[in-house]
Amino acid sequence: MLSPFLSSGLLLAVAFLFTRAELSAQAVAPSPSPVIGAVTPSNTDSTALSKLSALGKEPDWKKLEVFAETMTKTEFEAAWSEIYSEANAMPPPFQIRDTAISIPTGQAKESTATVPFLATGEKSKNTFKASWRRAHDLPAQGKRPPLSDLVIAIDPGHIGGAYATMEERMLSFKAGESIREGDLSLLTAKILKERLMALGAVATLVRETAEPVTKKRPEDLQTEALAVLTEAGFPKPAPTYAGLTGDAKLLTVQWQSEKLFYRVSEIHARAERVNQQIKPDLVLCLHFNAEAWGDATAPQFSPKNHLHILVNGCYAPVELQQQDVRFQMLQRLLSRTHEEEIPLATAIAATMSQTTGLPAYVYTTPNARHAGKNPYVYARNLLANRLYECPVVYLEPFVMNHEETYRRLLCEHFLGLTLIGGKLTTSAIEDYINGIVKGLLAYYQTNRPS
Ligand SMILES: [Zn+2]
Repeated sequence: MLSPFLSSGLLLAVAFLFTRAELSAQAVAPSPSPVIGAVTPSNTDSTALSKLSALGKEPDWKKLEVFAETMTKTEFEAAWSEIYSEANAMPPPFQIRDTAISIPTGQAKESTATVPFLATGEKSKNTFKASWRRAHDLPAQGKRPPLSDLVIAIDPGHIGGAYATMEERMLSFKAGESIREGDLSLLTAKILKERLMALGAVATLVRETAEPVTKKRPEDLQTEALAVLTEAGFPKPAPTYAGLTGDAKLLTVQWQSEKLFYRVSEIHARAERVNQQIKPDLVLCLHFNAEAWGDATAPQFSPKNHLHILVNGCYAPVELQQQDVRFQMLQRLLSRTHEEEIPLATAIAATMSQTTGLPAYVYTTPNARHAGKNPYVYARNLLANRLYECPVVYLEPFVMNHEETYRRLLCEHFLGLTLIGGKLTTSAIEDYINGIVKGLLAYYQTNRPS
């Protein structure tokens, strides 16, 4: 949905970073003709390539040295063209040469990073070891429960509670009743954790309450919010959105600082917890989807109800101009995260489509592309699945403002059947959990040493 107010390219850039991606599919101008594996950088302007994402930090490009001669050119090009680039990609802002990739770092000192390819037919002498383990690297199961040894971080999407309204994740069709995505994801996560632990996994919640993980609050991020708006061409924005409606709210320091708080700073804090403390083999990001519901004070039901599962990929050229994003994409690609992430997502898609009975969501925008052969699995560049340094399966089942789904979610979690709207119905949350558990069991029982 592209509002006429967002027609300016600069404003679109602001919206690109900070609008509600899950509710408002971004309409972006169609990409020009496909150029895959091209060697000409799309942008050699070093200033453009030195940008950072919101609250991003300068990467240490030396960290890519561990990937020297670990991947062939053919492997790199396949991963780039099939997963990490947009489906009709512009040339990447790095050069794929015969013997190496050359990447503009965007930094004054050492302006180019080079990662040599492994020669075809050679065996890599480099011993890069990721912090996470593939199913086939886990110890043998033996007579133990099937998920023994597996370290899983469960990330309940959003914050919920008192923050749900600010997050635009609170939905109510009648006074006295409401659902909040952050509360539903936490409830789902807590039950899922118990089930996974009963199967032997070491499961940890990334967030355990309806409170932010980040210590920052919107008022701490006003300078950064003003910088975002200034860079987008709005140096004198209104401080608050009181009295403003619609897209005019986007151009205020308050709106941008809130977005930076709950969408960016919060995910950075969770990434710190995932990467430094939990160090899991897998992260499950739990969400509930929605279709546009209009004015939050008078929301609309949608006839649509669907499921999709996201893996990391589909980077837009404009995103890869940011040096931290460029670095993180290459770090994921070169550490072969997709080789575990896509089969895992595919296994969960197979079982979750059965337990929920939902059809596959179909993207009509270029910010997502299919990954692998399952129609439910898409690649998309999200902050969480980019920053968590391990396979991430990001789940988007159910449309919260689908009428039957809304009523099922009002009933939260229950076992068996309950009469909802005159029909005996299962718990949507139980179907969600069952889909994940069955998919993980299928994947690890097939792929870990017996
Ligand atoms: Zn969500």
